[in-house]
Amino acid sequence: MTGRAVARVTRRVIEHNCGVLKQRLGAAELCAVVKANGYGHGAQAAADAALAGGATWLAVATANEAAALKTDARVLVMGALTPEDLDTALAAGADVVVWTREFVDAVASRGAPARVHVKLDSGMGRLGTKDPREAAELCDLVAEADGLELAGLMTHFATADDRGDDHFPDQLARFTAFVDEVRPRHPGVTVHAANSAAVLRDPAAHFDMARCGIATYGLDPFGSDPFEQDLEPALQLESYVAAVKRFEPGDSAGYGRTWRASEPTWVGVLPIGYGDGWRRALSNDADVLVRGRRHPLVGTVSMDNVTIDLGPETDVEVGDVAVLIGEQGGERILAEDVARRIGTINYEVTTGLLPRTERVYE
Ligand SMILES: *Cc1c(COP(=O)(O)O)cnc(C)c1O
Repeated sequence: MTGRAVARVTRRVIEHNCGVLKQRLGAAELCAVVKANGYGHGAQAAADAALAGGATWLAVATANEAAALKTDARVLVMGALTPEDLDTALAAGADVVVWTREFVDAVASRGAPARVHVKLDSGMGRLGTKDPREAAELCDLVAEADGLELAGLMTHFATADDRGDDHFPDQLARFTAFVDEVRPRHPGVTVHAANSAAVLRDPAAHFDMARCGIATYGLDPFGSDPFEQDLEPALQLESYVAAVKRFEPGDSAGYGRTWRASEPTWVGVLPIGYGDGWRRALSNDADVLVRGRRHPLVGTVSMDNVTIDLGPETDVEVGDVAVLIGEQGGERILAEDVARRIGTINYEVTTGLLPRTERVYE
């Protein structure tokens, strides 16, 4: 038996994935990215498991995420910060990222010691300065400011997951040139650029540290099969069969009658829906495992329930465990499979699991 919407997260699997990444990284450090509630897995549990698996840093997107973490490890807040966010981040003892003179002044004006990373926008087109000269000046400014420590140089790749594209090598070349110019003046800095895909794609992107999110959870940064990279999914999404009923031809399941039985069959009802983060776009377009067999999700996903076609003969009973993401009896459904069905990425599938989905840690 299991609950109505349960994300079962196995810490040991996150440790394993960090071990795989550490092995790829060699001497470079691993910074585990636990933003957005650890991509839906639970930030604290993910952080603890990643540190046990060899990560030495943590990264989050927001100041509040940093403040919520209980850890002795270094924490980097990667995102943009309002003045209030900056106070929160510094009070939490987190490292922050700068890319303007104004923001360096804002950090310095707090009068408290702060560790600062300068971000070059080498081609992501988001946060960071695009001008390597300005980035280099910011490094000198930070290093000279009272109380501030120049802790890192960073950039972020736009297309590391798109093997064979030519933008990634361009970004890498631009960032490498910047590092070669700045590092001799600031030999203590930690240089970091790679996300999960970049770690697996090119050792030249490893530098001193890599910021890995998706791969630590055992999801494939390239969107295909994590097992090909020795990664294992850490999250299994489960529900259970709350009702089994006979359908005659023409009987319909769910809102809008988007599915009707074409022949006599049995339908199972699972008490999980888009209110738990199981997306409505999966209506008539997903598989669910029960008793180690694949059954099609039929009808419209509603807020609290979905229906599955069990076929004309079934041994499925009320109380049977249903697996929406994960493995049962040798059958497997990957978050990547779910993502492909609805035109999104594995990141969004697990991050989109809502608070009503209970997290159970093992
Ligand atoms: C989210 C994020 C990462 C982690 O990316 P993955 O693809 O999940 O490994 C790294 N760096 C920055 C700046 C990020 O925002």
